[in-house]
Amino acid sequence: MKILIVEDEPGISNFLKQGLEEESYSVDVAEHGKLGLELALTGDYDLLLLDWMLPAASGIEICRQFRIKFKETPVIFLTAKDTVDETIFGLQSGANDYIKKPFHFDELLERIKVQLRPKSGEHSIFTLGNIVLNTKTHRVFKEHEEIYLTQKEFALLEFLIKNKGSVCKRTSIIQKVWDIHFDYNTGVIDVYINALRKKLKLTTNEDYIQTVRGIGYIAEEL
Ligand code: CA
Repeated sequence: MKILIVEDEPGISNFLKQGLEEESYSVDVAEHGKLGLELALTGDYDLLLLDWMLPAASGIEICRQFRIKFKETPVIFLTAKDTVDETIFGLQSGANDYIKKPFHFDELLERIKVQLRPKSGEHSIFTLGNIVLNTKTHRVFKEHEEIYLTQKEFALLEFLIKNKGSVCKRTSIIQKVWDIHFDYNTGVIDVYINALRKKLKLTTNEDYIQTVRGIGYIAEEL
């Protein structure tokens, strides 16, 4: 799951980024409204965390423009504006939730989880051959044996499994699993893919993660 934080106070955004990454989310940070809006509209995020008062474009402006293009993606305001009128205004601009600063990280985290909770009809359990991945508990099993993955490995497997049967381009994987500071020239994805194959003990008979040369990877049952 990938979250965009638009926040101009580095103390807050660094704290949030670190905390959310420890919870296995991929996080991008924009420190002003213009970059925030640009990333929000192009970055394929699962959730936006918006400050209200920002240089270049306000959180309200970002939220409104974002809503025109993305109707369903949750938006949470995280702001020092705390009157009832401001809260209502923020929610009316298209946000799903509104948290006032100062905030408790644990509460924010729970509110994020509520927004990202699978909707009825959506599943939290995904399978790939004899591998079972649960997005709710963040656990992976292979034939009832638990496989312990790092946060990035889990995010990578989740992305591949959710797109089972379709080729995942390297650029899409980077966008979804890593952050904007990712160095495209490194072989990091291949390293992670190989680590996954190893941890999942994929033999030639169950090579569920295939390389699509020059393009990316595909998760497929054979
Ligand atoms: Ca601010």
